[in-house]
Amino acid sequence: MLLEDVHRVLVVVAHCDDAEWMFGGTVARLVGQGAVVDYVVTTDGASGGVDMTVSNAELAATRAQEQRAAAQVLGVREVTFLGFRNDELTVSLDLKRALVREIRRSRPDLVLTLTPHRALDAPVGWSHADHIATGEATLQAVYPEALMPRIHPELLEEGLEPHEVTEVWFPALADADRYVDVSAVVDTKMDAVWCHRSQNGEANGDRAWMFAHHIAPPMVEAGDRIGVRHAERFRRVRVHG
Ligand SMILES: [Zn+2]
Repeated sequence: MLLEDVHRVLVVVAHCDDAEWMFGGTVARLVGQGAVVDYVVTTDGASGGVDMTVSNAELAATRAQEQRAAAQVLGVREVTFLGFRNDELTVSLDLKRALVREIRRSRPDLVLTLTPHRALDAPVGWSHADHIATGEATLQAVYPEALMPRIHPELLEEGLEPHEVTEVWFPALADADRYVDVSAVVDTKMDAVWCHRSQNGEANGDRAWMFAHHIAPPMVEAGDRIGVRHAERFRRVRVHG
């Protein structure tokens, strides 16, 4: 499916800031063309900080607030936090049931989520265990669980009817088969990334440094492949059709 054909999108990530770093430009483009985009964040983010004077609950609350602000910058409709413990996520029945619930509620044609396997060519953070578990659980929730009424029957009792997603897109490197030109929305993407203040300490307040060292390089590399300034790239899994 072409980007232009997407009307409803569910973004499923492990941590606050994953969506903005990985594919914030694509989210901005989708919202810009009128698509409805919802977010699901699977973990509570409570281990994403080294200042031990801040409690886990305080850190989780800060990160959730930052995520809501970033989503607002991008024009995302709703953010749902599933609250599983950061750095302990596995592909569990509880996680998959929670994801099926959100898929049936949001009823997307496109799901954007994280790569469900370790990418040895990528920076090590790409393959955080919570990312891999989120990607794999999301794919299992999309197929077959969200579309089969006999799986998670309690969700039918909640009034959530089966739903078939059309495609799932995962961030990719050289194996990408879908490139999105995000040249026109890089500032919006950076505005959203910059909302995650608690995670941007390395930049020391220098937004331009952050963009030049972390945000721009993967987009420039992807853009080179298709002859544009900045791109984000994905690997597609077709579910329907
Ligand atoms: Zn992450």
